[in-house]
Amino acid sequence: MVSPTDQFKSPHDALAALLARIEPVGVEQVDSYAAAGRVLAEPLVADRDSPAHDVSAMDGYALRLADLPADASWRLEVAGEIAAGQPPRPLPVGRAMRVFTGACIPTGADVVVRREDVDEDGGSIAVSLMPGAIRSGDYIRRRGENAREGQSILPPGIVVTPPAAGALVAFGAHRPMVYRRVRVGVLITGDEVLGPGAVPEPWQIRDANGPALLCLLATLPWVEVAVCDHSPDDLEALTLRLRELLACCDAVLVSGGVSMGDRDHVPAAAVAAGADCVFHKLPTRPGRPLLAAVGPAGQPILGLPGNPVSVLVTAHRFALPALRRRAGWITPEPPCSLVHLIAPDGRTLHLWWYRPVRLTGPGIAELVPHISSGDLAGPASSDGFIEIPPTDPGRGAYPFRPW
Ligand code: AMP
Ligand code: MG
Repeated sequence: MVSPTDQFKSPHDALAALLARIEPVGVEQVDSYAAAGRVLAEPLVADRDSPAHDVSAMDGYALRLADLPADASWRLEVAGEIAAGQPPRPLPVGRAMRVFTGACIPTGADVVVRREDVDEDGGSIAVSLMPGAIRSGDYIRRRGENAREGQSILPPGIVVTPPAAGALVAFGAHRPMVYRRVRVGVLITGDEVLGPGAVPEPWQIRDANGPALLCLLATLPWVEVAVCDHSPDDLEALTLRLRELLACCDAVLVSGGVSMGDRDHVPAAAVAAGADCVFHKLPTRPGRPLLAAVGPAGQPILGLPGNPVSVLVTAHRFALPALRRRAGWITPEPPCSLVHLIAPDGRTLHLWWYRPVRLTGPGIAELVPHISSGDLAGPASSDGFIEIPPTDPGRGAYPFRPW
């Protein structure tokens, strides 16, 4: 049997295996105004034609093209007006009717002439365009030209962006069905790691990973941080904390304690808490000891190696897609662009290499120097990281993932 430690040769394959084990959380109905940033759980279907009536695209005059006199000196009498929000009325023969943007086209009219193209004089207008310059249908938005009743507008599994939020209401979904927010538990491990505000001795460190993970999660409106907890490097304590988190969370992110050291208890604690390991260790740097497991209720559990740069890249490359799948996204991997390095250093690795970079122009990035995956000084001002395949000297185009 292949051990979960050496099963996957690439981050893509490992991620695919993890994603295949994750099901979306349940759904709930929300007010459309509260749907911003949530993941749609049902298709949006137009409940009526859009527009629902022929409407004017401009402020102007609706008329029948056939009524327009060839001689520009003729005038058309204006038979009233229709404002936006008013029902349509019939257009008397040989007359024009004043209309405003978004107003119904009067029954019988086949063209709108813009206000700036007519001479208005009391109750009549003269069109100041050559007859040939006006065509039937000009400045009329036809009923159903945007979408027909019953037409599919949005698929489920996409996030509600500003245009999607507008479309939800425009097409009649006042109480859309969305996936529940994914409740995420964060567990920081390490006897040496202190919480916020504590003054560390030189042999102790401040928790950089908790804030980094919470910052990533704070950018995700479809996530809710349920708990952010700390555990000492003790198997029993860790197992207990993990059990508690799995009892109340849809996903769990753990920092530290996943390597091979005698004090790295996360893999054993995950199994003791009822999780099933999907992979442990990947051919990547940083992040080689990464653990991915699935909890008893289908919760993705990501054991992120504790060095701060490892946590940042593995959270982004593996935990984020897992959370997106859990949240119901149809595209678990965020789209990434390709960048070229402005000054590749020619170094190679026999591993997939995640290197923090700064963008210097469109599609161009520079490597951000750092001593090790424990060094946040340079990466603190990076824009994201690139993924370089094994043995590649860095002279190609690489997927760039912004923080
Ligand atoms: P571990 O993965 O637990 O072996 O940790 C690897 C390295 O990351 C060690 O040097 C830890 O001290 C450091 N580390 C672990 N957790 C944190 C944290 N929350 N913040 C900053 N550094 C950490
Ligand atoms: Mg540790």
